[in-house]
Amino acid sequence: MANDDLKALIRTIPDFPKPGIQFRDITTLLLDAKGLAACIERMVAATRGPVDLVAGIEARGFLFAAAIAVPLKAGCLLIRKDGKLPGATIAEDYALEYGQDRIAMHADACATGARVLLIDDLIATGGTARAAVRLLRKAGAIVEQAQFLIDLPDLGGADALRADGVAVDSLVAFAGH
Ligand code: AMP
Repeated sequence: MANDDLKALIRTIPDFPKPGIQFRDITTLLLDAKGLAACIERMVAATRGPVDLVAGIEARGFLFAAAIAVPLKAGCLLIRKDGKLPGATIAEDYALEYGQDRIAMHADACATGARVLLIDDLIATGGTARAAVRLLRKAGAIVEQAQFLIDLPDLGGADALRADGVAVDSLVAFAGH
């Protein structure tokens, strides 16, 4: 596989933050200078067409969104947990396994018709990324592509996002949860 070098740099921590979860820890990849550079270069190369803004999802998504935005000559838009942004915000709720959560962005962060590339470190069920797409579209953005360092395809998030009309790319995939 083309990105086995990157996959080898991601550490798996079993039973974190709760029993049964295989936590895919990217801090080991971030520590590796060559791996980090290769990751950013490959995400930039996978980008389809011009992009006005790269939207990163708190918190690990921010790292990749800002790094990718620079070579793409795009701005970087922050999608945060509700209550963290200082200006006027719009928000979107999404379901968790138990209960629900809410993400927000500044209401004036993107112009109507802005072409936005959505970024996060990992897509699992897709709940977070799909809420981010709904939020960005509510703000008037055109969201036709999303990229993740890691996909957990067995959880179906990438396919659900594709069904929402978003082209989804990821560099590595892990089977199971
Ligand atoms: P989801 O909304 O289910 O697609 O979950 C995606 C979000 O949860 C991302 O921001 C990930 O960073 C985090 N996440 C979910 N599952 C894992 C996992 N197995 N390892 C690391 N992070 C995860």
